[in-house]
This record gives sequence, structure tokens and C-alpha cells, in this order.
Amino acid sequence: MGLFTKDIKSMKDLFLHTLQDVYYAENQIVKALPKLIDQATNRELAAGLRNHLHETENQVKRLEQVFEKIGESPRGVDCPAIDGLIKEADGVTGEVDDKKVLDAAIIGSAQAVEHYEISRYGTLIAWAEELGHNEVTRLLNANLREEKAADRTLNTLAENKVNRRATGYRTAAARSSGTSKRSGAVKKRSGRVKR
Ligand code: ZN
Ligand code: FE
Ligand code: FE
Ligand code: FE
Repeated sequence: MGLFTKDIKSMKDLFLHTLQDVYYAENQIVKALPKLIDQATNRELAAGLRNHLHETENQVKRLEQVFEKIGESPRGVDCPAIDGLIKEADGVTGEVDDKKVLDAAIIGSAQAVEHYEISRYGTLIAWAEELGHNEVTRLLNANLREEKAADRTLNTLAENKVNRRATGYRTAAARSSGTSKRSGAVKKRSGRVKR
């Protein structure tokens, strides 16, 4: 790990460490995404993840350019956070039986990864600006934009399609609550039906 060893003596060291952290993370994501793609049933979800896999491979290359621009050679340091998120994704998706529920689980896991990346790039960009590493902010921003777009794509897919399909009992629940109604408009706003 090394985060709490004393080899980080300055903001410059901290920036480099975090760059190595996200470099490791992106490489782990390249290895982990194919499994999620294979598990996805929804075609748009599989296509979206496949697209982000290609973007991620390109992000690794951008990070290599960042290393080069600050005069360092590309190297990763263990990121227990991404290892944990990937392990958790494996664990949860391995427990899901229903294919449609599995799609929702995949999106939830993928969004956790995107949010980790978004936080890392936001921090790196702020530090790069402060350190005067202006030549690397463009590259880091390009990665950040792709993470945010990936997150938005997953959100739209979940909210417009996948969550509703995964919640297959919704129509049945709405019907049974309808039969117990005393009058037409009862309980429409309770929100429970809307899950
Ligand atoms: Zn570390
Ligand atoms: Fe990424
Ligand atoms: Fe990390
Ligand atoms: Fe990503």
C-alpha cells in the first residue's frame, strides 16, 4: 500500500502517488470490465460497458502521457479502494440469479467505480493546477469527462429501462393495490408503488 509510509514528503509526491493510484485503478478496470460485459443481458448495457472499456484503455495511455510530462515513468501503486470495489462487484453479481436483476446490479457496481474515478480525477486536477502542472490538466480533464459521461449513460439506462425491468413485480403490485382501493384516486401519491 504505502499510503502511510513516509515517502510522501510534499504535495508533488502526493500528486505522483495519487496519479500512480489511479493508473493502477484504470489498469484493474481494464481487466475487470470484460467480465461485467459478459454478464450483462441488456444489449445497450453491454454496448455501453464495451464502449467504456475502449475509453478506459485510452485513459491508461493519457495517464502515461501525464507521467511523461512530469518527468516520471508510468508506475502503479496498489489501490485498495478499486480492488475492494471490483471484489464487491464480483461478489454481488455472483449472488444474483435473475438476469434482469443482474443488469441492475452490474450498473450499481459500475457506477461505484465511476464515482471513485470521478473523485480521484477531481482531486488530481485541483492539485495539478496548484502545483503548476498546467500541461497535464487537459489530459486529466479528458479522462474526467469520460467518467462523468459513463456515469450519466449508466444512470439513464438504469432509470429508463433496467431498473423497471428488474423490478418485474411492479405491475402486479400496482394491480393488487388497485383491487383494495375504495375509490379511484386512493394512494396514488404514496410512492410505494413507484419503487
Ligand atoms: Zn497507496
Ligand atoms: Fe477510467
Ligand atoms: Fe486509490
Ligand atoms: Fe470509468
